[in-house]
Amino acid sequence: MAGQVPKVLIIEDEPAQREVLAYNLEAEGFQVAQAGDGEEGLLLVEEETPDLILLDWMLPGLSGIEVCRRLKSKSETRGLPVVMLSARSEEVDRVRGLETGADDYMVKPYSLAELMARVRAHLRRSRPASVGERLEWTDIVLDSETHRVTRSGQELKLGPTEFRLLTTFMERPGRVWSREQLLDRVWGRDIYVDTRTVDVHVGRLRKALTKHGHEDPVRTVRGAGYALG
Ligand code: CA
Repeated sequence: MAGQVPKVLIIEDEPAQREVLAYNLEAEGFQVAQAGDGEEGLLLVEEETPDLILLDWMLPGLSGIEVCRRLKSKSETRGLPVVMLSARSEEVDRVRGLETGADDYMVKPYSLAELMARVRAHLRRSRPASVGERLEWTDIVLDSETHRVTRSGQELKLGPTEFRLLTTFMERPGRVWSREQLLDRVWGRDIYVDTRTVDVHVGRLRKALTKHGHEDPVRTVRGAGYALG
C-alpha cells in the first residue's frame, strides 16, 4: 500500500554498515532512506518524513547527539522515534544519549534481529496502523486489518485513498500536515499527483465523516494544510 509502509531513515557515515541496515530493513518490508552525515540526515527528515530514525553516534561534522538534540527540540520532529547506534558502551554515554532525548540506544555490534524487533516496537507506538493496530479517536474507530471505519458505531464507507488519509490523520491527531506531506504519506513519493488532489480527497473524507450528521473533525489550517482535531 503506497505511503502506508513505514519509512526508516538511516543516518550513518559508513557505507557498508548503512547498506547492511538498508538491506535488512527492506527485507522486513520497510521503506528506507539513507544519509551519510548529520546535515544530510536533517534535510532528509524534512524531505522524506520518515517514521523512525536509526542514528549513528559518531558522524563527521554534526554528531549524532547534536542531530538528536535538534530533532527533539522541534515540535514537528519531537515525536519521531530515534534509535541511536554507537560503538561506545560506557554507561555514561548511554545516559548522555538518552538525555538528548533518544528513544532507544543500541551498542555495536548489535544483533540485527534485536534491532528489527525494537524498530517494530517503536513503530507500534508511533505508527500503530502500519503494524495492524486499531486506531480510536473520539467516536471514530479505524481497524487497519479489516479496513472498517465506524463513527459512533455506524459504519462509514471510505474509498482506499480516504481510508489512508484518515489513517494518517488518526495516527497523529492534532498534527498539521502540509499537502506535500500528505501526498508523500498517502499517495507515495513515486506517483505524480497534483496537490489539489489532496483537497479533493480531504473533501470526500469530510463528506463521509459527517454523513450521519456528525461534526466535521478535519481542520483546515490556512497556509499550512490539514489536521484532525
Ligand atoms: Ca560512524
